Amino acid sequence: MASPPGDGDRDGSPAESRSVVCGRCGIRSAEPPPLTWTCSVEHGVRRHFCEACARENLRAIEGRLDSDWW
Ligand SMILES: [Zn+2]
Repeated sequence: MASPPGDGDRDGSPAESRSVVCGRCGIRSAEPPPLTWTCSVEHGVRRHFCEACARENLRAIEGRLDSDWW
């Protein structure tokens, strides 16, 4: 348990990098987010979605649609 669960690339975010925000409803969670959260990368930007939103967005994510249309 010496090292944190690295995900390969450090995104160099400023102060708030220790929390994640749902890209849809805006709910916040500590880093790392629960396994029920979904992470997707759109236009090179990592976005997280909470369990409820992820479920609704699953089709959109699989359809490779941008989340901007919501
Ligand atoms: Zn949400």
